[in-house]
Amino acid sequence: MQWNDFVFVAQPSRVVFARGSLGRLAQEVAALGARRALVLCTPQQMEVAQAASALLGPASAGVFSGAEMHVPIESARRARQHASEVGADCAVAIGGGSTVGLGKAIALESGLPIIAVPTTYAGSEMTPIYGITEAGVKKTGRDPRVLPKTVLYDPELSQGLSVPMSVVSGINAIAHAAEGLYAIDGNPVMSLMAEEGIRALAQGLRGIHRAPADAAARSACLYGAWLCGSVLGHVGMSLHHKLCHTLGGTFNLPHAETHTVVLPHALAYNAPAAPQAIARIAAAIGAPGAATGLFDLARELGATISLRELGMPKEGLRRTLELALANPYWNPRPLEAGALAELLDDAWAGVRPRD
Ligand code: NAD
Repeated sequence: MQWNDFVFVAQPSRVVFARGSLGRLAQEVAALGARRALVLCTPQQMEVAQAASALLGPASAGVFSGAEMHVPIESARRARQHASEVGADCAVAIGGGSTVGLGKAIALESGLPIIAVPTTYAGSEMTPIYGITEAGVKKTGRDPRVLPKTVLYDPELSQGLSVPMSVVSGINAIAHAAEGLYAIDGNPVMSLMAEEGIRALAQGLRGIHRAPADAAARSACLYGAWLCGSVLGHVGMSLHHKLCHTLGGTFNLPHAETHTVVLPHALAYNAPAAPQAIARIAAAIGAPGAATGLFDLARELGATISLRELGMPKEGLRRTLELALANPYWNPRPLEAGALAELLDDAWAGVRPRD
């Protein structure tokens, strides 16, 4: 990539990062000029959502706990109707990518400003990308209206995220940065953020694996998640994200776990065509190679490393390949059916890739 030829358009959002920053929520709602904030969450995160609602006092329009994985259109409709019934002029999405996704679905239709309070490392809070599932098909799109206006990063809130979920969520975030480093529309600012994000997450995840409540490691991971999420919001993704989207959508495989299995194989595939990006990824994780380094990191941290163990039927690999080849998209290495079939076979079996 030549850094004498690029376009950089910054996505506007206000980021507040501090331990205990949830305590500033009322201030941030007021700063948006809002008076009635509806707090969104999944049923599992009712407790933290109620705490957020209590912090808002009279500026709370209550809690809507109907966020669901993949944002089914029915849940988006219920949330939109509820927001309108309670007269909300702002929504606070507290949770992972699914809850932030519900906030985006409301914003897409109503333009309601969203404050995101992420409790995983998925990174959706930094992107103008939305996804809504209708009749079993997840449609994604970009719209500046869905980009959260304010993001409150409070490392204390991810303290309760289990080690297995932290690991896959963190590697999901690394995937955004890794593909950002070889993006066709990449730029030097995003590459700096990507490299730093991968470094912070690799260190932070090792720390969480040693001691799940380690405050510094939790902060490092959330900091990395912010950087990697920003990369996803600013530049286009390639083969790895396409494969994961296909596997998740067609075979209902779990999102972050699928990213964790596929990433080393996608990087091994792209390595010959993107040597500089691959070298930066390897340096950031502190390994001689990017593909083997990430594979070893996932294994060291106890993650599942094969699609087979995630419940992927072997006969589904052929369909995945067809779908991956069906709609052409930019990738540093051209899509070659034979090599892609090998990639999928290796990911299915959990074979250590070659750099
Ligand atoms: P998630 O939001 O589905 O959360 C998984 C579960 O973990 C939920 O039950 C949630 O309530 C719970 N949880 C979240 N944080 C917790 C915590 N700190 N402690 C205990 N439990 C907690 O998972 P995710 O991986 O964050 O998000 C995945 C979804 O986000 C996918 O649908 C993906 O497509 C989407 N996503 C979108 C973008 C984008 O830019 N649009 C980016 C990344 C991910």
